[in-house]
Amino acid sequence: MDRERLYRTEAIVLKRTDFGEADRLLTLYTPGLGKIRAIAKGVRRPTSRKGGHVEPFTHSQLLIAKGRNLDIVTQAETIHAFRPLREDLLRTTYAYYAVELLDRFVEEGVENRPLFDLLLATLTWLSEADDLALTARFYELRLLALVGYRPQLFQCVSCRRPIEPVDNFFSPAEGGVLCSRCGQGRPGAQRISLSALKVLRFLQTRSYSSCRRLRIGQKLHQELEATMQRYIVHILERNLKSVEFLETLRRELVNG
Ligand SMILES: [Zn+2]
Repeated sequence: MDRERLYRTEAIVLKRTDFGEADRLLTLYTPGLGKIRAIAKGVRRPTSRKGGHVEPFTHSQLLIAKGRNLDIVTQAETIHAFRPLREDLLRTTYAYYAVELLDRFVEEGVENRPLFDLLLATLTWLSEADDLALTARFYELRLLALVGYRPQLFQCVSCRRPIEPVDNFFSPAEGGVLCSRCGQGRPGAQRISLSALKVLRFLQTRSYSSCRRLRIGQKLHQELEATMQRYIVHILERNLKSVEFLETLRRELVNG
């Protein structure tokens, strides 16, 4: 095989879909090339030696051949298998969430080394952590910052005043917290308790080793999850709409 057309990269498997008779199409996240896609040939055959190295959220060293349409994985070797993520159903669920969230936020071919490092660290933390929800919230806040959607949690996104220690509001559309005055009756804004806001700020600004020591009750966890989910869904839907809009426009230009 032509050497020029081969490249070596580390990668974390974000997604795999069946392709052809026995192949899989992999969506990979790499430190130097961002998100890429490549075919792993024959890996659905039970005799395949490559199969185990290209499972979801495996961290592997790959040798890839550039193809005319799709690149092809020619060699694969596992660096981290993250066994606990496969053996414990709850950890598996969180690991799928981590790779899927990243997949949705990044375009193909855009390098973001800190994001690769974050994903790799998060898979390690999810393999060990007691409080998986806390790890997930930490990951969400860091991922959002790295892709340009860091929520503003320290001053009101409307009047810019510092947030007072009372119940305030969170507005996904405005990208952060609203003071109790600006948030009252604001469409789309939802109340956020002082405890929830404090935890989100802590997660946004402290190291994981500090954050993992937090002890959070069930009710507060629910509020944190609901707040982050509403924000994330808002961003993703807005992006999807802009994609749809562009596609509609393109169709009209072509047909018109
Ligand atoms: Zn305000």
